[in-house]
Amino acid sequence: MAALLPIRHQPPLPLDRLILRAPPGAEALEMDVVVVGAGPAGLACAIELARLGQQARDAGRDAPDLNIAVLEKAGSLGEHSLSGAVVNPRAFQELFPDMPPARLPFRQPVAGEAVYFLTERRAQRIPTPPTMHNTGFYTASICEIVRWLGERAEERGIHLFPGFPVASLLVAGEAVRGVRTTPSGLDRNGEPGAAYQEPTDVTAKITVLAEGTRGMLTQAWREWRTILSPNPQIFALGVKEVWEVKHPLDRVIHTLGWPLPADAFGGSFMYPLGPGQVALGLVVGLDYHDASLDVHQLLQRMKLHPLFRPHLEGGQVLEWGAKTIPEGGFYALPERRAGEGLLLVGDAAGFVDVPSLKGIHYAMQSGIFAARAAFSALEAGMTGAEALAAYDRMVDRSFIAADLRRTRNMRLAFKDGLYLGGVKAGLMTLTGGRVPGGRIEMPEDAAAPRVVRAAAPFTPDGTLTFSKVDAVFKSGNATRDTIPTHLVVGNDVSPELADFYSHVCPAGVYERVGGELKVNAPNCVDCKATDVLGPRWTPREGGSGPKYRLM
Ligand SMILES: Cc1cc2nc3c(=O)[nH]c(=O)nc-3n(C[C@H](O)[C@H](O)[C@H](O)COP(=O)(O)OP(=O)(O)OC[C@H]3O[C@@H](n4cnc5c(N)ncnc54)[C@H](O)[C@@H]3O)c2cc1C
Ligand code: SF4
Repeated sequence: MAALLPIRHQPPLPLDRLILRAPPGAEALEMDVVVVGAGPAGLACAIELARLGQQARDAGRDAPDLNIAVLEKAGSLGEHSLSGAVVNPRAFQELFPDMPPARLPFRQPVAGEAVYFLTERRAQRIPTPPTMHNTGFYTASICEIVRWLGERAEERGIHLFPGFPVASLLVAGEAVRGVRTTPSGLDRNGEPGAAYQEPTDVTAKITVLAEGTRGMLTQAWREWRTILSPNPQIFALGVKEVWEVKHPLDRVIHTLGWPLPADAFGGSFMYPLGPGQVALGLVVGLDYHDASLDVHQLLQRMKLHPLFRPHLEGGQVLEWGAKTIPEGGFYALPERRAGEGLLLVGDAAGFVDVPSLKGIHYAMQSGIFAARAAFSALEAGMTGAEALAAYDRMVDRSFIAADLRRTRNMRLAFKDGLYLGGVKAGLMTLTGGRVPGGRIEMPEDAAAPRVVRAAAPFTPDGTLTFSKVDAVFKSGNATRDTIPTHLVVGNDVSPELADFYSHVCPAGVYERVGGELKVNAPNCVDCKATDVLGPRWTPREGGSGPKYRLM
């Protein structure tokens, strides 16, 4: 059987575009701190920074009134945010200690939970693994969380700039001195059109990278400064839908097994979002072996299973979306997350615990720690790597590092397949991660060989199941189709590789037409799956991409 090795065909990171030694333009905005990405990590960081300044001034200290900017590529806050989500509220409680839970931006408390092992026709309930207990947590829409955090940030005088994707880090020597945004209004050939707007430079004493999963600037900074980790970061792709349903779902559901092949890692979730809505998604590790595996299509098939179908029938899909998740855990954390004028927070740093599928509270808590380190550094007038290393120490002593350490090999054990992985993960749970000992080595996802197989045919019915074109429509994506492509494809794309990319991309960006690869770049929903396995994603004009409201 023919095989593909995705890494052989992957273009290098365009480092010359991502790291700029050019001095900032004369009209650069001057900030104390610039945060890249208005997700939970970036917004928590900005809010805590402003709060610390206020607290110090209230205490009579001569603390600076900081100029803090948050730059976000989505046209409006939350439009590029996608999660499950069941939220552990502890970081919210730390950031808003006086706020009662009822005022936090959650849909409902978790009232019950069940885990099932699926075969094609059956669902066998299994005991809930200890890592998957969600008592005391809440279901939520991350779009709503982000919009709410944005309001809290604005109340504190933070400058929010949605629609401003950051294209490059501005550097001098070894230090990061700020960022440059993408231009907008370019035509298909990359030439300025009638609505052209130049890039904006924002200089800052500290730049916080909170750009989420598979961040381009994070990759560039790590490559430039040679910031290693014991294992490379690995990723999963999550495809998700929000449905309006006739009957309320009374518990949080997770499943293992079908529709995934036994040699792929992943599972599904269905969460209640109040009485009339559910969130439903499938998450699959991108180290799967079958080149024809298609996560979007698997989710469509999954909805026809007797466990899900009765919940969805008579309802309607409200929104569709996709996003990757960093899954490497403890051993994929960068050896340092602080540098000269730079801090790395949230998913950008890899703070996700896969066995519990949690990242939001780690993202927020890391943002809070970054703010504390940044504030002390600014007060002391020293923003070098040594001063900012206080952030790394805070993370390393916190529940973030402890939780990730406890489950350090669990996801990695599944590289040997579901059954052996399940046994090993069980042992790890029983022993707090000590057995089997050592670090399980993991190659990067693109280095996992793929077996080329014919894809199983599937015809969506347009009611319960949808094509990728319908799905992109439901993501709200209305990107101008005259912008230059933001995707960098390698040379010599064989018909088999074109097929592989078309299956990887949940949004139908890549198509095999005859023997050639066709790229429908405006369809891209920024999930970053192909950046992991093939063509590179780069930041494009602000406001492009999905317009999620409920994810
Ligand atoms: C399918 C799925 C299910 C999940 N389920 C759960 C769950 O149930 N519970 C849980 O706790 N966690 C869950 N997670 C993980 C959780 O969503 C993440 O850990 C969390 O969102 C990370 O927050 P962040 O702020 O680091 O990144 P993000 O939320 O990704 O935010 C990053 C922001 O940066 C912006 N950005 C990126 N690049 C640029 C750029 N160049 N310029 C400007 N802006 C940029 C993005 O548009 C985005 O708004 C899930 C994730 C997925 C994908
Ligand atoms: S092209 Fe865009 S939508 Fe498709 S996989 Fe890549 S990042 Fe995701």
